[in-house]
Amino acid sequence: MPSIVSVAPWRVFSVEVRALRLLSPSFLRVTFAGPDLDRFADNGYDQRIKVALPLPGSRVAELPDGPDWYQRWRELPADRRSPVRTYTVRAVRPQVQEVDVDLVLHGDGGPATRWARRARLGDRLALVGPDDGYPGVHGGVEFRPPRGGTLLLAGDETAAPAICAILERLPAGARGQALVEVPDPGDVLPVTAPAGVSVTWLARTGGGHGSRLEPAVTALAAELLPVALPALAPTAAGGPRTLTDVDVDQEILWEVPPPAAPASLYAWLAGEAGVIRRLRRHLVAERGLDRGAVAFMGYWRLGRAAS
Ligand SMILES: Cc1cc2nc3c(=O)[nH]c(=O)nc-3n(C[C@H](O)[C@H](O)[C@H](O)COP(=O)(O)OP(=O)(O)OC[C@H]3O[C@@H](n4cnc5c(N)ncnc54)[C@H](O)[C@@H]3O)c2cc1C
Repeated sequence: MPSIVSVAPWRVFSVEVRALRLLSPSFLRVTFAGPDLDRFADNGYDQRIKVALPLPGSRVAELPDGPDWYQRWRELPADRRSPVRTYTVRAVRPQVQEVDVDLVLHGDGGPATRWARRARLGDRLALVGPDDGYPGVHGGVEFRPPRGGTLLLAGDETAAPAICAILERLPAGARGQALVEVPDPGDVLPVTAPAGVSVTWLARTGGGHGSRLEPAVTALAAELLPVALPALAPTAAGGPRTLTDVDVDQEILWEVPPPAAPASLYAWLAGEAGVIRRLRRHLVAERGLDRGAVAFMGYWRLGRAAS
């Protein structure tokens, strides 16, 4: 009888840095290579992964292997536990066992950006990513629009890799708009999008987080959702009037609709949690956007380290 080997959806990949490319003032593209990356599933869109970073003074980050890696990682003493952060897969090339991740250089205050500023070829890290050998849905992809309808993609620089990866996988007939706020005019990245999807880069050039994105999304919402509340009736998903605010300093802002809920407008928003919370309130509570047709994700929180 053939033996049945069960494969988990996610696994730890040991990798090393094969290439480093400063794309712009704020984006560093890291190309990871590893002997098992031919098994890294190429799901595209906003596929998220975990990246383990070296402890201070080291160029190596390790994670326990196996399906219980997370439990075993948590049990490690702090001085041996590599910090882990969440990133988006920018590109996968299984045939040459490579994965690209675009990291924002945002200062020197967290293990990821600290490592990125000092990264060298040959640094050894670990990724937790989707295993191509798993036959089901891996999870970690939140962009799940219904067929047809208009798309609204909006986010800051941390969401730029996801927005670019989404744009590149959209069907040729897709329609919509993408708004991406970045720190610097030099951070506008080349991206391919279907003819019906316009892409607008908004440089905040010293302004606060959301200072360009919030007015741009608000103006677009006025065009796309011209009837402001209170004229609108509550929606099936609970209704804008029942929207409960999320305390982004205590909870993770992560509200994603189930796959393919029918909608004429589907919105995907990610970035600094306070900015996304305000946009959520505006779109849902003031413009009446159906909560079943919008994904809101706080990718990071100003003043708080991820854990
Ligand atoms: C699903 C998902 C996908 C993501 N994809 C990407 C991606 O592809 N590329 C990417 O660069 N980031 C991405 N992020 C965001 C990234 O995980 C966070 O920015 C993370 O906090 C960076 O870790 P750190 O160690 O540098 O800083 P932390 O240790 O987490 O934080 C240290 C300090 O830096 C601040 N900080 C964190 N990020 C930023 C920032 N971008 N700008 C200014 N201040 C910041 C924090 O508020 C805190 O005060 C993603 C997050 C999620 C949840």
